[in-house]
Amino acid sequence: MHPTQPFRIGHGFDLHRLKAGAKLVVGGCDIPHDAGCDAHSDGDVVLHAVTDAILGALALPDIGEMFPDSDPQWRGADSATFLKTAVQYLKRTRYALGNLDVTVILQSPKLAGHKQPMRDNLARLLGCDQSQVNIKAKTNEKADSLGQGKAIACHTVVLLERK
Ligand code: MG
Repeated sequence: MHPTQPFRIGHGFDLHRLKAGAKLVVGGCDIPHDAGCDAHSDGDVVLHAVTDAILGALALPDIGEMFPDSDPQWRGADSATFLKTAVQYLKRTRYALGNLDVTVILQSPKLAGHKQPMRDNLARLLGCDQSQVNIKAKTNEKADSLGQGKAIACHTVVLLERK
């Protein structure tokens, strides 16, 4: 049974450990850095959190259930594949994106210069206007594992409107 309310809200969170020498992909952008995500797919926390927010808003199984990391077909996967699947569910259930707000937490490097390309990528993947997508980037003030550069995290909230 799919939801039919005029508005649905969804929240997504993701975190990946960073390891030396791995590729760092954030919001579909390759970020030059000496460490990247230790993950089964490309470890893009932004695309994972956005996918989960949309799936959550539609009361569907989460990203880990839909694309299990035990399944070899998702090894090194481009996370755009996951988001594209969530967008197909959106269309199928007659919802459209209202807006999306994303917060990425990474101690270093600074993501300020990558926010616009990330926004472009998300708007393209979601088939929406850039004004519907916002990206915020924060450090973790050097506290905890995020602040020590051991991990990257992303929080996302999405609003869906029924067409
Ligand atoms: Mg993930």
